[in-house]
Amino acid sequence: MTPRLELVGLDAGYGSSAVVRDLSLAAEPGEVVALLGANGAGKTTTLLTVSGLLRPLGGDVRLDGRSVVDRAPDRLARDGLCHVPDDRGLFPGLTVAEHLDLVRAKRSDRAQVDEWFPALAPLGGRRSGLLSGGEQQMLALALALVRHPQVLLIDEMTMGLAPIVAASLTPVIRRLADEEGCAVLVVEQHADLVLTVADRAVLLVHGEVALSGTADEVRRDHDAVVAGYLGALAPPES
Ligand code: ATP
Repeated sequence: MTPRLELVGLDAGYGSSAVVRDLSLAAEPGEVVALLGANGAGKTTTLLTVSGLLRPLGGDVRLDGRSVVDRAPDRLARDGLCHVPDDRGLFPGLTVAEHLDLVRAKRSDRAQVDEWFPALAPLGGRRSGLLSGGEQQMLALALALVRHPQVLLIDEMTMGLAPIVAASLTPVIRRLADEEGCAVLVVEQHADLVLTVADRAVLLVHGEVALSGTADEVRRDHDAVVAGYLGALAPPES
């Protein structure tokens, strides 16, 4: 099967300096791929490049087998790519309901949001800037859900959330893949948590792939993951 999202030998960075080198991964419809790594490993840079906000320095980004490196971010969004950034991308002064209006949520979409995120239902009139971190993340995910994306990029979904809130939201990633059929690339620092819902995972160390495999394989290589996070794992010889 042609992967819905494929990165092929991707080099990504700023100006001429690559902070991610030779990254390859693929996600099929209904699959969750976790991109793991410590601060500064290059995870956000990778997502910015996939969503067209940074131009790749080398390699390729493909959707359904076609290179999309020349497509503008708005065109990629229309083509079904949705990016939930690490700051959640909300407008603090707009209410929950106004956010749903903004993405032209249909009646059936609103019913789906109520079913997936019942905690948001009574908060329609509340400005997003006054929501808790968990509620804000629910709203960010709800806005992604309403767009029914083909490819969903989620950056640091659990950042700043209490562990219990992070654990309660993580299964939503699995549900988005299973029920919406989208390919999900999720960046996460809480490796243990995201590996419970991911199919596959890639560990970046200093911008290079240090480990990659099924979520089970990566979980079993716990020592390498810990070393990657603590900076004890050298990047592979190039
Ligand atoms: P974090 O969780 O800290 O965001 P990350 O794995 O997402 O980590 P990136 O944000 O992709 O890492 O950063 C990778 C490297 O790129 C870091 O060394 C960072 O300092 C550098 N970097 C990030 N943004 C820029 C920028 N706008 N210009 C130049 N270098 C940048």
